[in-house]
Amino acid sequence: MNKPTPLFWKVFFGVYEALPRQGPGNRACAARALGLCRELPPSPAILDLGCGVGGQTIQLAELTSGSIVAIDSHAPSIERLKATLAARGLSQRVQAQVGDMAHPEQPPESFDLIWSEGALYNIGIGNALRVCHGLLRPGGYLAFTDAVWRKEDPPPEVEASFDLDYPTMGWVEDVLIAIESCGFEQLGHFTLPDDAWWSDFYTPMEHRIDELRVKYANDAEVSSILDQLAQEPKLHRRFSDYYAYEFFVVRRHQEQAHTQTQPAMNEGLEQQHAGDGAARRR
Ligand code: SAH
Repeated sequence: MNKPTPLFWKVFFGVYEALPRQGPGNRACAARALGLCRELPPSPAILDLGCGVGGQTIQLAELTSGSIVAIDSHAPSIERLKATLAARGLSQRVQAQVGDMAHPEQPPESFDLIWSEGALYNIGIGNALRVCHGLLRPGGYLAFTDAVWRKEDPPPEVEASFDLDYPTMGWVEDVLIAIESCGFEQLGHFTLPDDAWWSDFYTPMEHRIDELRVKYANDAEVSSILDQLAQEPKLHRRFSDYYAYEFFVVRRHQEQAHTQTQPAMNEGLEQQHAGDGAARRR
């Protein structure tokens, strides 16, 4: 496929920035993932990476009483989030910043919870996990969603669509291996239900595309880009059984897990790890 033109990006953002979310996800799933972070302090320090226009940022602000730093590299999305925060009186508790999640310029070990929906893959999951590990306090939580395959031999159009956006996409098991090799304990994971693809994402996307079709009815180039963008929800209607979005909730190991050296203290730990390994290999 040809490199997207500047007009493509203009239309793309004209559609995406107008949506409540820029990827699958909803409040119920965010609440479920948050529920897996059982020992969060009462007012956790939260970092939301790749926040987009902040659909989940606002939900996190409502679901917790924490302070939130929300980072995205796309400045217009941050401008939108700032406007939403001001309108809701949340500007004190939530800071929205333009930044690169590969180098978020935040103090090391300063967050109780890092959140990221549909964004970490942009810098590679392994790399993202290492960045998050360094920013979390020992025992801090990371909750993120990632696209995964769930059925072999996808139709060519599905494969082509992910090849374009996420060529290294793996399976749940691949992400679990990456999680473990980066020093995290896995607390739980679940597949986003189909409704989470539609309510805040594909349904408003289809409405927005229809709106722009009317506005640009006489512009063949824009209309053709809108047709292209409309393919994604259509593809999802037909082939969603081949792929999924998975929510993963993990925890940075407490410091002592790395530093136990006394044989007497090690015994119980080793037994516990041996048990974990056996469970994982099944
Ligand atoms: N979390 C939001 C947005 C998901 S779309 C939601 O679920 O609605 C992915 C987001 O990641 C986009 O807003 C994109 O601008 C952002 N992004 C991509 N690469 C990034 C990077 N290196 N640093 C920060 N944000 C990035």
